[in-house]
Amino acid sequence: SAVDTGGPTIFDKIIAKEIPSDIVYEDDKVLAFRDINPQAPVHILIIPKLRDDLTQLAKAEARHGEILGQLLYASKIVADKEGIAEGFRVVINNGPDACQSVYHLHLHVLGGRQMKWPPG
Ligand code: 5GP
Repeated sequence: SAVDTGGPTIFDKIIAKEIPSDIVYEDDKVLAFRDINPQAPVHILIIPKLRDDLTQLAKAEARHGEILGQLLYASKIVADKEGIAEGFRVVINNGPDACQSVYHLHLHVLGGRQMKWPPG
């Protein structure tokens, strides 16, 4: 499983548009694009354009409050755009026990089907 090296990730290349992605929403602070391996009919990743030291949520500090709020707010914008505002799930996998595989903070927005709880 992946470890947090603090180094660049594939998401830097997506932000730089060096590798293609299916972008669904973008502003000056955040980028939202379709997950390459979708776990639901709608599966979108939302990331900060400036990762800073936010490789994972566990690295968050008080100064990250604004970007954390912007990411969460972007999940609502994306849910509206995708027509799933009536039912969607927002997930952050933090660290190896949660199967985090890319160490650049990201929210998963999932919807378009009945979601199960607990997720397992
Ligand atoms: P994690 O497991 O770290 O919470 O989520 C990382 C997500 O990034 C996975 O769902 C994986 O499918 C997605 N992903 C990894 N590489 C790429 C890529 O190059 N492009 C896109 N669109 N998604 C990716």
